[in-house]
Amino acid sequence: MRVERTPVSVVCPCYNEEGSIARLVAAVADTFGRRGQAWELVLVNDGSRDATWSAISQASAADSRVVGINLSRNFGKEAAMFAGLSQARGEVVVLMDADLQHPVELVPRMIDLLREDGVDQVVARRTREGDGWLRSALSRLYYRIMGKFMDVELRDGVGDFRVLSRRAVDSLLSMRESNRFSKGLFEWIGFETRTIEYRNVVRGTGTSSWSLGSLFRYGMDGFISFSDAPLRLSIHLGLMAVVLGFGYLVWLFVSWIAHGVVAPGYLTTVAAVILFSGVQMVMLGVVGEYIGRIYREVKNRPIYLTAGRVG
Ligand code: UDP
Ligand code: MG
Repeated sequence: MRVERTPVSVVCPCYNEEGSIARLVAAVADTFGRRGQAWELVLVNDGSRDATWSAISQASAADSRVVGINLSRNFGKEAAMFAGLSQARGEVVVLMDADLQHPVELVPRMIDLLREDGVDQVVARRTREGDGWLRSALSRLYYRIMGKFMDVELRDGVGDFRVLSRRAVDSLLSMRESNRFSKGLFEWIGFETRTIEYRNVVRGTGTSSWSLGSLFRYGMDGFISFSDAPLRLSIHLGLMAVVLGFGYLVWLFVSWIAHGVVAPGYLTTVAAVILFSGVQMVMLGVVGEYIGRIYREVKNRPIYLTAGRVG
């Protein structure tokens, strides 16, 4: 059997995945072993509250190709992926979830596609089977709306399950922003990309850490990270208010000429004050969102901190 020497790194962020680690390691070892492909598995423990870290340590002790990185607390999936990517040594890097929702069997095909076509990214696009209808409908709506306003094109079902060339990984690592929205970052770096489709796998153990609320926040985060449309919207709204206000003024003036002074106007005054102070508050909030992000970025804190390493 021909042994492929250049190792492939598999990077998995792990948060409360104690039940998945052993199966994940076995699946990776099996899939790559069958092809005679050298590999390393980089497992990043993202401040799990269960025994994930000891499961990773055990796996690493049993197989030196398993590398474990223990983050000092829960930094979030994006930071955990960044930590894993920065530790990966392979010429080809696979990024996938630890919960086995990303089928390992697909990876060899993806790697082949990357090598044969000489592209830098191969993404697996999942169908929405097993998702609640509300979640699927909201995601679809999200992609429709965001597609119109964002600097990068997002596609439904395309996530973090992908195979990257060394060049693509280095490009991702060169982007040091602490507010990381990887769906956007993957698109932003560009390079030629191939897509393959797969059927969604329903989660085996544990629960998804995403609630509808956290998904919404994530969506807004991504939107603001890759779009300044809300800021432009405030200019448009402002202009509209000016035009409306001026028109109303002209109308008042004309009716004053025609009918003389008409005193009542309490309702319109109050309505206008409430409406426009409302709009101003919202827009101030929008500006605040961007300033908050600038504040966070400008502090230039590290994206993650490690408390330990095995393997
Ligand atoms: N994850 C992480 N940090 C977090 C939340 C999640 O590293 O704060 C990992 C998790 O262990 C899994 C992946 O990110 O490997 C995807 O998480 P999850 O399965 O909860 O999301 P979903 O599959 O529902 O998108
Ligand atoms: Mg999952």
